[in-house]
Amino acid sequence: MNETRAHDRYELDPGDFLVTDERARADGLEIVGVWHSHPDHSAHPSETDREAAWEGWSYVIVSVTRDGIADVRAWRLSSNEFVEDPIERCQP
Ligand SMILES: [Zn+2]
Repeated sequence: MNETRAHDRYELDPGDFLVTDERARADGLEIVGVWHSHPDHSAHPSETDREAAWEGWSYVIVSVTRDGIADVRAWRLSSNEFVEDPIERCQP
């Protein structure tokens, strides 16, 4: 995580990613995206999110306020622009 701008930045640690990817593959799984939170901001991607995004991955953004989770949305980069991915919500 970017400690100096943690409110609007995040970083994937390459070592953590490799370990997670290896574990997923060993279980027959594939990493298809990442999630992060937007404290006190909407669940829409920022320009920073767009610049750091990879085509084909799904980016789940959780809007969080002091009252808890306000919104959850998923986005996918297409032609260098984010389009919203539908999220199927399961009933507990
Ligand atoms: Zn973001």
